[in-house]
Amino acid sequence: MEELKHLKDEINKCVKCGTCRSICPTFRVIGRESASARGKITLIGARFNSELDITDAYLKHIKECTMCGACRDTCPNGVDTIGIINAARAQAVKEQGLPLAANLFLKNILDSSKLMPFALKCAARFQGVFFKDSGVDNGLLSRFSLPLVGQGRLIPPLAETFFLDMPEVKALASDTARTEKNRAARPLKAAFYAGCGVNYLMPNVGVKSIEAVRKAGGDVVVPDSQVCCGMPAYYMGDVETARNLALKNIEAFEGYDCDYIVTACATCTYGLKSVFKELLSGESIRSREMTARVNAFCSKVMDITVLLADVLKYRSEGGNKDAKRIVTYHDPCHLNRNLGVRDEPRELLKGNSSLVFKQMRFPCSCCGLGGGVSLTNYELSIEITKRKAESVRDSGAEVVATACPGCIVQIRDGLHRYGVDAEVKHVVELL
Ligand code: SF4
Ligand code: SF4
Repeated sequence: MEELKHLKDEINKCVKCGTCRSICPTFRVIGRESASARGKITLIGARFNSELDITDAYLKHIKECTMCGACRDTCPNGVDTIGIINAARAQAVKEQGLPLAANLFLKNILDSSKLMPFALKCAARFQGVFFKDSGVDNGLLSRFSLPLVGQGRLIPPLAETFFLDMPEVKALASDTARTEKNRAARPLKAAFYAGCGVNYLMPNVGVKSIEAVRKAGGDVVVPDSQVCCGMPAYYMGDVETARNLALKNIEAFEGYDCDYIVTACATCTYGLKSVFKELLSGESIRSREMTARVNAFCSKVMDITVLLADVLKYRSEGGNKDAKRIVTYHDPCHLNRNLGVRDEPRELLKGNSSLVFKQMRFPCSCCGLGGGVSLTNYELSIEITKRKAESVRDSGAEVVATACPGCIVQIRDGLHRYGVDAEVKHVVELL
């Protein structure tokens, strides 16, 4: 229990006021105290004091959290609810290990720079056998009642060619020396981090990101040895795998002379910018050299919408001004709550004269995907998405823009399930 000791003060800061219950998406759906941050903190505190064993019920309760961060934002006493819940998950994995399938996937596939793309290439080849076209917005439906992908769930198709395998992207892997001449022509150099969502599911988002940076006068490189950011492992409590992946990514970018490390995924941005620091600051790994390397990497990480709106002052040329489409924006929790990015994506959308921007009722409410909930408890996850789907319907938007491939997948599924007719796009696809 040593690892949990440093959280004792944090747990004791909770005065049990219950403010966090009013905004918690899991509590809103389940209506049980243990689904809220207050309930979880009480359970984790009891575990910390050895009044409670790690039982199936305890694990179920600490997994009922999308890690949206709304409770931390609203807590009047500044309790680091996310830190407490995450530490409890990591502690449970340390004491009990992961379920066999999760362990196999995280440690042998996700943590391998070769096996992960190979496994997904095989899956892409056979996806037509198991899935059929849904006929709506880029989604497949399972032909059989399979675990994780059944229940009428809209599944994103794997790309025919993954982003990092595209010839035009491979050509950007080699870093060109910055001479006086090319520095003057393109004064800013961005190294693009794709992440699994862009690489395997939405390569077009990566292509559009590169095009936009170049159009605004920047240069782009794409390091080819980049791997998953490790956030799925981190949220499932597998700190070791998440740390391995963080180190591999830092090494992948270190050889590049760039000003920014840019991503088009809210979760990756948060992981690379903040979680890497946490993962690589433990006693076993801390050294002055490592701290300098991690700080150098993290300080360059920026979301694509911030780079385009604030740094490059991107100006959209707009499309057909006579056929304006109504667009609304969903705030990914990792960008909005963890990194304070709210205005930049909206500015970019408003800058396109072929779009009419309309705010939805609950733009910041969690889509329901995060914290591993969409994998461990799909019913809860998609029930959380209902509120988002209703907000989109009420806004009258024809297009929902967001800045996270994960949110795109979840909202598409939710709109399909609840019968809302709107497209879901990444902001960079609408510039
Ligand atoms: S809002 Fe903060 S202090 Fe109040 S119950 Fe929730 S975590 Fe505890
Ligand atoms: S992080 Fe979000 S889902 Fe988890 S307890 Fe807090 S408000 Fe609820």
